[in-house]
Amino acid sequence: MEKKFYQDLLDKMSDGVYFVNRDRAITYWNDGAERISGYSAQEVLGHRCAEGLLRHVTDSGQQLCRHGCPLLGVMRDGEPREADVFMHHKDGHRVPITVRGQALRSDDGQIVGSVEIFHTRGTNPYAAHCRERVDDSLDTVTGLAPRRFGELQLKALTQAVDEETATLGVLFIDADHFKNVNDTYGHKTGDEVLRMVGQSIVNGLRRGDIPVRWGGEEFLALLPGTNQAGLRAAAERVRMLVENSWIQKGDVQVRVTISVGATMAVPNETGDELLERADRLMYASKQGGRNRVTTDTGALISNAERPILGTAAPWDTLSAEPRAANGGVVLAAS
Ligand code: GH3
Ligand code: MG
Ligand code: MG
Repeated sequence: MEKKFYQDLLDKMSDGVYFVNRDRAITYWNDGAERISGYSAQEVLGHRCAEGLLRHVTDSGQQLCRHGCPLLGVMRDGEPREADVFMHHKDGHRVPITVRGQALRSDDGQIVGSVEIFHTRGTNPYAAHCRERVDDSLDTVTGLAPRRFGELQLKALTQAVDEETATLGVLFIDADHFKNVNDTYGHKTGDEVLRMVGQSIVNGLRRGDIPVRWGGEEFLALLPGTNQAGLRAAAERVRMLVENSWIQKGDVQVRVTISVGATMAVPNETGDELLERADRLMYASKQGGRNRVTTDTGALISNAERPILGTAAPWDTLSAEPRAANGGVVLAAS
């Protein structure tokens, strides 16, 4: 009776709450966690959170499962921890959340596991988690604004740049080898992947930024009020978030990367001229090997870690991988 009361209470919270035992297996998952992540309790209970489920990454692309798992730290020293991270959603995209981890102790004071409480942050109106209902003016595949809306916004914003009342950064984004996704998994999965890409892009942007499905597997993001540094950070963040997105199909993780061109609008150029430059920079990213950002000054160097591939828990994967003595760099066999 009492247990049910507390369980109901936890399920009424808008925050996500879950509990892991000392083996980091999930033993409790509330309704809030299901709403935010898309995973039901049935799907996650008994699994370890890094087993191809959540795999938090930081803003700069650090993989918390590999090192810096907040729950592991909490269980080690009993100190609570808080972090802003991006969580994997069942639909594939990344969701910005704030997580707080705290130790749970048995009656005799032993740490028996850790509880994580999390809520979404970031308020870009095109993010799926910010919308109460589906808006029929939005592109149905990606949930983003359609091209026509982007064209109107672009016109207004380039005018503001001409009048020197605003700055404008632009990201031109194209999914890499997207044809392969359709050819391998079919058009329906292709659509799901496009939505995943669109939603990871919007979740890497800020409140006033405008993500647009430009056409096919191309996206445009308009960033009013940004500067060169802000534009670069946003471009790298969306690239990293898409690289860390996947849709689970049986044993296979369907993944795709993006190539990005990033540039600032200059006064007295047309919207077409601006987009042509952004498109050329995107094409330079393709030529440079894809999954990268190119700006007016060249390709950006990324400090993000490589994503964790596959469904094995990463500490299992790591112990199976060869370790190198040279600062952890594993040299490929020649
Ligand atoms: P690249 O890295 O050079 O951009 O290669 P790519 O395969 O992404 O480029 P390509 O232009 O050859 O192919 C784009 C593919 O995107 C072909 C098209 O069928 C697919 N596509 C465009 N719009 C949609 C859509 O709405 N849904 C699905 N499933 N596929 C789409
Ligand atoms: Mg294309
Ligand atoms: Mg493409």
